[in-house]
Amino acid sequence: MSAKKVKVGFFSLTCCEGCEFAVLDLEEKLLKAFDYLEIVESRVLMEKIKPEALKLDIAFVEGSVISKHDLNKLNYIREKTGFLVALGSCAATAGINGIRNALPKELQERIRQKAITPVKEKASPLSAFVKVDYILNGCSVNELEFLDFLNKVLHGVIPRLEEVPVCFECKLKGNSCLLLKGIPCLGPVTYAGCDALCPSQNVQCIGCRGFTKDANFKSLDNLLKEMDSGKKERYNFFTYFNQLPKELRHLRGEN
Ligand code: SF4
Ligand code: SF4
Ligand code: SF4
Repeated sequence: MSAKKVKVGFFSLTCCEGCEFAVLDLEEKLLKAFDYLEIVESRVLMEKIKPEALKLDIAFVEGSVISKHDLNKLNYIREKTGFLVALGSCAATAGINGIRNALPKELQERIRQKAITPVKEKASPLSAFVKVDYILNGCSVNELEFLDFLNKVLHGVIPRLEEVPVCFECKLKGNSCLLLKGIPCLGPVTYAGCDALCPSQNVQCIGCRGFTKDANFKSLDNLLKEMDSGKKERYNFFTYFNQLPKELRHLRGEN
């Protein structure tokens, strides 16, 4: 074991903090990793944080940028960190927080007026403001994927991001396709890595791991339309965890 431990911090911007709790769910496996890690900051893991020691090798940041406070905090973390990881879909794509971006303008304005703290016009992913070195996507983040990332990084390897869609893992598991049963599913346009968690339980994929780079949105949208899914329903479906792809701009306007 190397004498020098890797300095790691966990940070939360606006979110439910569920991703950090998902990491905690690793229990003994995480404790083993502590032989190699020094947790410099984590509101959930430690009673007392050490901001003075904040010079990090890796920062895991969950949550979206919604307020000025979030942005200041994110800039500070970026400045102090060698390698910044967006932890979970709130950080990677704005996730659940991004639902606000797809609401009618008047409603968005009312939400801003009612907010306890001044909020920005849009909920944004980290990459809208700072360089993000890696993404561990999902709502919540997949704890085994997190562990695999840690394992590889501690061995000096940066893992490659998954490039296949959920359908790939779904087929490997031998699931029968929900689309063929007339149930909408975003598996064809969503990054794999969750072992097709939802479709394996007969539940539609709603895209929590983000849209793939080469996704054929038009084709899936046409298929959903043929399944009698209305414009508004499709708009809501595509924007549940992600921003509306430009190919589907025609769905806007009914909201
Ligand atoms: S990605 Fe999901 S679980 Fe993680 S912080 Fe956001 S809402 Fe919570
Ligand atoms: S159920 Fe969904 S994820 Fe599975 S093959 Fe069909 S479209 Fe793809
Ligand atoms: S199947 Fe889709 S919604 Fe479910 S965990 Fe995987 S990416 Fe997320």
